[in-house]
Amino acid sequence: MGHHDEHLSAHVEKIQPPTEFFKNRPEGVEPYITSFEQYQEMYTESIEQPNKFYSKLARENLHWHRDFEIAKFPEHGFYNSWFVGGQLNASYNCVDRHAFKNPDKPAIIYEGDEPNSGYKVTYGELLAQVSQLAQVLLELGVKKGDTVAVYLPMIPEAIITIMAINRIGAIHSVVFAGFSATALRDRINDAYSQVVITSDQSKRGGRTIETKRIVDQSIKECPQVKNVIVFKRTGDESVPFNSKVDLWWHENLPKYRNYVPPVPVNSEDPLYLLYTSGSTGKPKGLVHSTAGYLLNAIVTAKYVFDLHPEDTIFTAADIGWVLGHTYVCYAPLAIGATTVLYEGTPVYPTPTRFWDIIDDYKCTQFYVAPTALRLLKRAGDHLIKPYDLSTLRALGTVGEPIAPDVWEWYYETIARKRASILDTFWQTETSAPVLCPIAGVTPLKPGSCSLPFFGVKCAILDPQTGEELKENDVEGVLAFASAWPSLTRTVWKDYKRYLETYFHPFPGYFFTGDGAARDKDGFFWILGRVDDVVNVSGHRLSTAEIEAAILENPNVSENAAVGFPNELTGQAVATFVALKAGISGAEAEKIKKDIILTVRKEIGPFAAPKEIFIVDDLPKTRSGKIMRRILRKILVHEEDQLGDVSTLSNPNSVGDIVNIVKAHR
Ligand code: ATP
Ligand code: MG
Repeated sequence: MGHHDEHLSAHVEKIQPPTEFFKNRPEGVEPYITSFEQYQEMYTESIEQPNKFYSKLARENLHWHRDFEIAKFPEHGFYNSWFVGGQLNASYNCVDRHAFKNPDKPAIIYEGDEPNSGYKVTYGELLAQVSQLAQVLLELGVKKGDTVAVYLPMIPEAIITIMAINRIGAIHSVVFAGFSATALRDRINDAYSQVVITSDQSKRGGRTIETKRIVDQSIKECPQVKNVIVFKRTGDESVPFNSKVDLWWHENLPKYRNYVPPVPVNSEDPLYLLYTSGSTGKPKGLVHSTAGYLLNAIVTAKYVFDLHPEDTIFTAADIGWVLGHTYVCYAPLAIGATTVLYEGTPVYPTPTRFWDIIDDYKCTQFYVAPTALRLLKRAGDHLIKPYDLSTLRALGTVGEPIAPDVWEWYYETIARKRASILDTFWQTETSAPVLCPIAGVTPLKPGSCSLPFFGVKCAILDPQTGEELKENDVEGVLAFASAWPSLTRTVWKDYKRYLETYFHPFPGYFFTGDGAARDKDGFFWILGRVDDVVNVSGHRLSTAEIEAAILENPNVSENAAVGFPNELTGQAVATFVALKAGISGAEAEKIKKDIILTVRKEIGPFAAPKEIFIVDDLPKTRSGKIMRRILRKILVHEEDQLGDVSTLSNPNSVGDIVNIVKAHR
């Protein structure tokens, strides 16, 4: 351990970001950062003089009802409070200030599940609806500091709801509307929400989802829930309505006038809580502060994505994930830009929906997870060629490692080498990018999330000793050596779990749970979850690197590498491979041999998979992340100990894989 083995990253050279980035932009939309040196100077100041750096940013970017006394307190160490003494309101910052200046400007472009079924919501309209819903909540007795559960599809009402809740100083707890009644029940109860906001049904990929029925099912076991506000999305008459508990959105909002003053809250008052994806176990309800969160949402969107008020950003993520919170909702609105809210899937009715949206609305930023990119790459480039896509300046990815192959495809086929590709590493815990390039400025390496964002001090630790490896060309565990404004403050009502999960594993550091390398140029590479690391004869192998090597095979559409016990080598590598449609039999056998050769060549003979399973589909979280934990259990025949797989996006894949593994042995 210590020195980074000669893996994929070692021979990746930096490429300069596209110069088109500076030319291809609307009149008057000047980049915020124009050189790599400027990034470096700002970064140094953010670390060495955080009070000076953040005081200026916070006063420039946020409207304060009462100015703060100090930006970071205490100035050193970890358990900081930010902008202490200050008071502000998030909805005022995201809605009112833009509505006053520019009431007719579109805040939201809603693109419905069916093509051509969307509409726009202006800042003026948004303020009116947010105010009305805020008054409904007040009438129901929701107070500052109460939590409100949100279980809504990707419709403008999701944003209206989030803003209405924070307008009265309450705390939103958004639960992804693809989750089961059980998953929803657990989150409503953990947050002790007394009001739930939902819709009658949802539409996604041409399917109808019984959203309200799922809520009804879950609140049977939520004794504290008093009211459910229901928005009519489809108007289906058969949806149950219980007038003791339920209120129609469309009947109650019009009772109230179009303006209610926002409730100023303290900087450190919680803005929301949000549960992690649950890739590694029981989800954690992470709490984010109002001022620190909002500020970092704004500054990452500005500096990393070059997002201006004139821009239209399309983040293809559900509002139920942190990516949706920050990049569909808060950052675009706080900046006064236009956000695209897309209800559907990447492939319904055709795998060109994203490209249609980008061209139709002249999107300037696009942000998506690698799982969607792998899917769209597989659909074939001939579908993309007819599109213009020339308004795009910045293209982001987040959520999983992006294999260099997919990165290059994104850069050539979608960015057309005009826009910057931004591989951004972040977590629900960090609530905004922490390792990421600056658009147009940071040199790029396909597969690397490059360098730390302002205020973030990243450390690579030796996983055995916890010692910080300060040189370049090292690999180990990724940790943060300092706090910045948007780092999560606690686990909801469980500060002990917060300390145990993040601070106890490596004293003096915040533990991310991810393995990472820092290469000879100081660039960071995420190697996969620490829990997923495979140890073959003392070589610690990164699942991300093995998977990236296998993905170079043009017949492979997705794959997951995991370790399993081996008498000789401690662990050996097994890989689960999904092939492109229509490949089987002898052809599949040949691909297995090719895969072994590729891994031997790219990584080393010890990394060559001992077992290769051809599968139709890999088990994934609802946010699209591959669940390697489940594959590991299946390999050691512990399929009775998988835990709750009902929250997976494709629970059926599990049984199929169990059968494939059994048949193989
Ligand atoms: P849980 O913590 O419950 O297991 P989760 O970690 O999947 O769930 P999120 O907070 O949504 O929940 O995901 C953050 C994780 O996603 C990171 O810790 C990392 O493993 C992965 N990730 C995010 N961005 C990147 C990236 N650019 N490259 C590689 N991995 C990434
Ligand atoms: Mg996590």
